[in-house]
Amino acid sequence: MNTGKQLFNTSAIHAGSEHCPVTGAHIAPIYRTSTFVMKDVEEAIAAGYGDPEGKYYAYTRYGNPTIHAVQRKIAALENAEAALMAASGMGAITTALLAVLNTGDHIVASDTVYGGTFGFMKKILPRFGIEVTMVRVTGDQVENIRNAMKPNTKIVYIETPCNPTLAITDLKRAAEIAHECGSLLYVDNTFATPYLQQPISLGADIVLHSTTKYLNGHGDMIGGAIVGKRELIHKFDSDYMKWIGGIMSPADAAGLSKGIKTLGVRMDVHCSNARKIADFLENHNMVEKVLYPGIESHPGHEIAKKQMKDFGGMMSFNVRGGFEAGKLLMDSVKLFSLATSLGNVDSLIQHSASMSHASMSKEEREAVGIADGQVRLSIGIEDVEDIIYDLDQALHNVKSQMNL
Ligand SMILES: *Cc1c(COP(=O)(O)O)cnc(C)c1O
Repeated sequence: MNTGKQLFNTSAIHAGSEHCPVTGAHIAPIYRTSTFVMKDVEEAIAAGYGDPEGKYYAYTRYGNPTIHAVQRKIAALENAEAALMAASGMGAITTALLAVLNTGDHIVASDTVYGGTFGFMKKILPRFGIEVTMVRVTGDQVENIRNAMKPNTKIVYIETPCNPTLAITDLKRAAEIAHECGSLLYVDNTFATPYLQQPISLGADIVLHSTTKYLNGHGDMIGGAIVGKRELIHKFDSDYMKWIGGIMSPADAAGLSKGIKTLGVRMDVHCSNARKIADFLENHNMVEKVLYPGIESHPGHEIAKKQMKDFGGMMSFNVRGGFEAGKLLMDSVKLFSLATSLGNVDSLIQHSASMSHASMSKEEREAVGIADGQVRLSIGIEDVEDIIYDLDQALHNVKSQMNL
């Protein structure tokens, strides 16, 4: 029932997307301009660095109507007041961290965060005198956050479902602990998308996205978003993004606005395909284990059911035969593209031990639950029978070639 507030798919289509007020063009033109002309010096002085709400514009690095349109759309979908776009997911993450942290501060982060985030936290933040403690925060280990908190902890940083084990963190609990200790909670919501999970409604202060993934959905752009309260986001914008400079281009913002319009319908198919593929893999004799939060035996299933609308399109599984079998499977698929990234309309596959997590030792990988034969799937929205057919023929190929 409609309670007066637009529902998700309506917002995905309409929020932020205005018709052109000048020509009436149904789809507003892309404002491909670096600067904005002033009538006179008085207006230039008034415009200053532009306005974060888009009342006036001065220079595209300070703000642009096409970028502002997608900001409004994403803020509406996350049930938040404001959003700020970045040139990449990492651009959003690093900007949102640096905007708050000072030398001498401390952050607590999940030990299983995106590789780029891990690198930034381990290699760059310490150079500025910022201390990082990484702890396991998934399942019943969420209380580890409290044990890691210090008087100078400014941020708690988590990702759920996380990569590539699809482990789940209780968002409400994480927010309670962060706030009791006077810290902000940052959540990378890339895997779930606002269609499945809205961390701000569960207490998070900042939501981060790689819009490269599901939000855009078609694999043809790199982008990021920072979402939260107006006051905080505007501060990030005016005190930080403006000078760090990693903004999204207007052309990418227009492409992203288009992609987001179908987010809900795409996610429904990603989720229903993934559910069927998880069932197929669970019953396959070449598969040792399936990691998908939608399966009842998954350790995060109950929490996921509580905080997510559905379980998403990402899953991992361990193929029988270890490292060699994992590699051979990559050479055996035909419909799947062997590629990193995720969230596209087409299905992608990767072998964690030889690809995304090759820089870790076998022991380090096992400590975070990445087996040698672990394969990560980003399930697309192709006809599910075709995806299953491809996995089945590839698994049979591994079986016969390795005499398993
Ligand atoms: C891809 C990804 C990022 C980084 O985003 P880019 O757009 O590649 O910079 C951050 N977090 C998660 C969970 C991701 O999947």
